[in-house]
Amino acid sequence: MKIFVDRVKCQNHGQCAISAPTNFELDSDGELQYQESFDEENIDDIEDAIDSCPLQAITLKS
Ligand code: SF4
Repeated sequence: MKIFVDRVKCQNHGQCAISAPTNFELDSDGELQYQESFDEENIDDIEDAIDSCPLQAITLKS
């Protein structure tokens, strides 16, 4: 499974970076940067990030 963020929906709110800082962060310009791959041990954080995104921009794809 890989993380996918819909850049059209994403408004760089950053809630995902709070929930799962290992995979999501806002860069110095305030834009979301993220890693598609994640360790299984971080799945709870990734699911929290998905749930916390106010624009439902994050999905998991196989
Ligand atoms: S929480 Fe959602 S809208 Fe905010 S930066 Fe993350 S993916 Fe984008």
